Amino acid sequence: MSDEKWQNPVAGFGVTFKAMFKKRLTEQYPEQQKTTAPRFHGRHQLNRHPDGLEKCIGCELCAWACPADAIYVEGADNTEEERYSPGERYGRVYQINYARCILCGLCVEACPTRALTMTNEFELADSSRESLIYTKEQLLAGLTEGMVEAPHSIFPGTDDTDYYRGLVTGAAPGTVRQVAVSKGEVAPENGQSEEVDA
Ligand code: SF4
Ligand code: SF4
Repeated sequence: MSDEKWQNPVAGFGVTFKAMFKKRLTEQYPEQQKTTAPRFHGRHQLNRHPDGLEKCIGCELCAWACPADAIYVEGADNTEEERYSPGERYGRVYQINYARCILCGLCVEACPTRALTMTNEFELADSSRESLIYTKEQLLAGLTEGMVEAPHSIFPGTDDTDYYRGLVTGAAPGTVRQVAVSKGEVAPENGQSEEVDA
């Protein structure tokens, strides 16, 4: 055996020995969650106005902008009896297929109302196609202080332009949720809305 061949294994163990004293880079995921960058592209969110009405107007621009054909939108007309957004139209059906989505953010850029943004949530893996198709109910932002769940009437004395100018900062006193007839709800005699099977 030449000198060189004899030294190779020793040099290899030297690398191992040095690595034993280096700082470990192993991440203890999922027990310890890593903080993402502030502008990380994670799961989408459909936003609301400060009074709880929805910002989505069902225009489908996000769906047209998507290079992966991952978004499906069906718009519908608001009525005074069942209003989901301040303007004429709202997104009745909204779905994002995370089996297709590449989290590029082009849909967010295309949205004219800032209804669609992306969160920092990245745990999207699942085992079935059905569970990877997120519905409007899953994507819609939760209610915060001052909001009333849609459908409900627009803030008295305002129009949709006032909403986009930021002049509406919360639901008007006495605002109550309307009955969502288009979703199969019926108005019981006591005036409270009640859900029934569609
Ligand atoms: S992030 Fe990109 S791929 Fe995903 S839905 Fe939006 S446009 Fe489509
Ligand atoms: S999320 Fe934005 S772009 Fe997409 S349908 Fe709603 S308003 Fe239009």
